[in-house]
Amino acid sequence: MSTQETEAPTTSAAPEAPDAPQIAVVDPASGRVIQHVPDLDAEAVRRAAERGRAVQPAWAALGFEGRARILRRAQKWVVDHREEIIRTVVSETGKVWEDAQLADYGYGAAAFGFWADNAEKYLAEERVKSASPMSKGKKLLIRYEPLGLVGVIGPWNYPLANSVGDAIPALAAGNSVLLKPSEETPLTSLLMERALLECGMPEGVFQVVTGRGQTGAALIDVVDMIMFTGSTRTGKLVAKAAAEALIPCSLELGGKDAMVVLADADLDRAANQAVFYSMFNAGQTCVSVERVYVEAPVYDAFVAKVVEKARTLRSGVEPSGPGATDVGALTFPPQLETVRRHVDQAREAGATIAVGGNPPEGPGLFYPPTVLTNVDHSMEAMTEETFGPTLPIMKVADVEEAIKMANDSPYGLMASVFTKDAEKGEAVARRLEAGMVHVNAVLMGYLSLELPMGGWKTSGVGARHGVGGIRKYTKTQSIVVSSRMNLKREPYEYPYTGTGYKLVGALNKFLYGRGRRD
Ligand code: NDP
Repeated sequence: MSTQETEAPTTSAAPEAPDAPQIAVVDPASGRVIQHVPDLDAEAVRRAAERGRAVQPAWAALGFEGRARILRRAQKWVVDHREEIIRTVVSETGKVWEDAQLADYGYGAAAFGFWADNAEKYLAEERVKSASPMSKGKKLLIRYEPLGLVGVIGPWNYPLANSVGDAIPALAAGNSVLLKPSEETPLTSLLMERALLECGMPEGVFQVVTGRGQTGAALIDVVDMIMFTGSTRTGKLVAKAAAEALIPCSLELGGKDAMVVLADADLDRAANQAVFYSMFNAGQTCVSVERVYVEAPVYDAFVAKVVEKARTLRSGVEPSGPGATDVGALTFPPQLETVRRHVDQAREAGATIAVGGNPPEGPGLFYPPTVLTNVDHSMEAMTEETFGPTLPIMKVADVEEAIKMANDSPYGLMASVFTKDAEKGEAVARRLEAGMVHVNAVLMGYLSLELPMGGWKTSGVGARHGVGGIRKYTKTQSIVVSSRMNLKREPYEYPYTGTGYKLVGALNKFLYGRGRRD
């Protein structure tokens, strides 16, 4: 990583706000300031919105194929600039290179092509038949129009996947996009703004507006729809603001994902996945394994395997390149306090810290991989989102208790169940209260962009990916064309002489009065 601040990237919204106060972007692994970006105010956001709206009709008019050409070029750009992207992500998040490659670079490389290939199919006009007698002989169509200007607000944990990633289907649908990345991690978004311009996207179609929470709040006032990823707390504020502006919102929020390990599970696979998906990205993944419930007969064996694996993980050093370390830094300074609080509180309440638990002194924002046992639901480590490299494991009597404990949460993002009996696993999956559940796997469904990925309960409203993941960026128009049997006057129209009344009554009885009644 460079030791000096590199040249500040510009945002397309920045030239009009030359006097904007600056935000220092810090490498959390070293504590060094690496760049500054402007903290744009509401006026700068409004001007960016005007620019986005002005160019949107021409972008929409390019059609699916015209837009897909540019998105496919962007896919190639991502692949060609792999190292630059990974370096940028690592520098502003403190994550390790492998994590940045798998989840940020890998997601971007896939998503540009996916939406280029599927937008037209997902948004194709549909011809429907209606049961209504009033529609007989008429052509009924459903079509999808871009909303216009979409606002995307993103968190700091996956600056490419969760910020730019959500902009891609919005762009593919024909919208202009204003993206407000987290103030902690704006550099990847700015890099991708440059990428899209180089790939031929007209100026103003995709703009990054850097800033803090107020910039995000200002964004909601000027867009036609808001796609938000972040904490449940901020998500509620965004939903209120969207209600005030009367615009749709889609919310991807926090999680406390449970893993259930049944007595017949492949314990090596389960232990490996538990360790990997709790520590990956230093645990700062909305869909990481945040808590584990293990059936009593295999609890000790499972814990022993997890402890053995977690002990070998390297952390606490700067991620200087591939292979340098296993678990990177935390990205967001207050997050270190949350992790510390959850672990310390659990320890005081009687939990055993089987691995880790003692964070090193700075300068980097590091917390060591930590495994907790003897935990229960009186501890925040089991009930609140920790978002750090911690793995609390709880013993349960049987599958019924595992399901009950897993569902004892305000969150419902993802969950997983491990068992060699796939049928039993699927039956358990259906009873877990989460938007996506894996059997003998964790998280991978996130990368199947055909599958809707959204949270239940306080983990979100709406979903990304799948058909709904692009239709939410459109407005539906239904068209009814009456070209045949166009009578001069329909029998139910004026004047009301009583004949039409009888006729419509008889028709209703004929249509709806003959159903089976048991
Ligand atoms: P926050 O909710 O703190 O922030 C998210 C974004 O909202 C940031 O860009 C933030 O700006 C901005 N923001 C803050 N206040 C407002 C406001 N009043 N109006 C509009 N925007 C505002 O989340 P984090 O960045 O801390 O991200 C971590 C959270 O994200 C975790 O809870 C995690 O589970 C969740 N998440 C959910 C995912 C999912 O798919 N369900 C995926 C990834 C993360 P700034 O940073 O500048 O303050």
